[in-house]
Amino acid sequence: MKRPCVLVLAGLDPSGGAGLLADAEAVRALGARPLCVATALTVQTTRAAQRFEPVDPSVVADSAAALLEEEDVRAIKIGMVGSRAVAGEIAALLDAWRKLPRVVDPVLAASSGASLFEGSISAARDSYLRLANGAVLTPNVPEAEALLGAKLEDPLLAGALIGEGAGAVLLKGGHLPGNPTDFLFERGSVERFSAPRIPAEARGTGCRLASALAAGLALGMPLRDAVVKARALVREYLSSHLSV
Ligand code: PLP
Repeated sequence: MKRPCVLVLAGLDPSGGAGLLADAEAVRALGARPLCVATALTVQTTRAAQRFEPVDPSVVADSAAALLEEEDVRAIKIGMVGSRAVAGEIAALLDAWRKLPRVVDPVLAASSGASLFEGSISAARDSYLRLANGAVLTPNVPEAEALLGAKLEDPLLAGALIGEGAGAVLLKGGHLPGNPTDFLFERGSVERFSAPRIPAEARGTGCRLASALAAGLALGMPLRDAVVKARALVREYLSSHLSV
């Protein structure tokens, strides 16, 4: 049987820690097939990102359109878009593919601090909110704060991103103190997923989580089951990168 495809639009981190290579690993681990379109090329090692160059927006859109026409795409994952122009082309293309489940991971900066979006915070916010329309949005706490334009005094406030158009929100609680809790907001409900913190040094966990989630959706899982599967994959990855 042919494996269902996940179309991934994200940045290329040549070190493989994060970005498209990490996305492809996560999609394959769940039993789906990744189709990878680079939105930006990053200059990056396993330690830190140095700089990036967005790909020509029409190349991104034409690549994605060709794959959507010819392959059995069952879900779409969007990660780093790099610029407002690339985000705009992707959003315009995806208007015609609204029936496909979409996972949008808003990528603003690397953990090393380097910016991964060319332009202002408000341009990044507008770009990702437009892409998130009807999609599952997977911000961590700083990303949720950037998208909301306010401090998250209480993690439950991230549910307001549904009011901004997201179909559902998975707030990744790794930056919260104590045992990390992720919050899944759907219209009218919130569910918490908590587990002991794994002391690991690993990059690209956000990329992997969002891609595994998209793969679960491509395989026909309900959102909650896909979240459970994706969390398990990331926890397994962290366990193989223990820092102690
Ligand atoms: N490079 C690319 C292409 C990414 O998409 C991301 C994060 O999503 C990063 C780098 C940053 O990864 P990390 O936060 O692990 O440094």
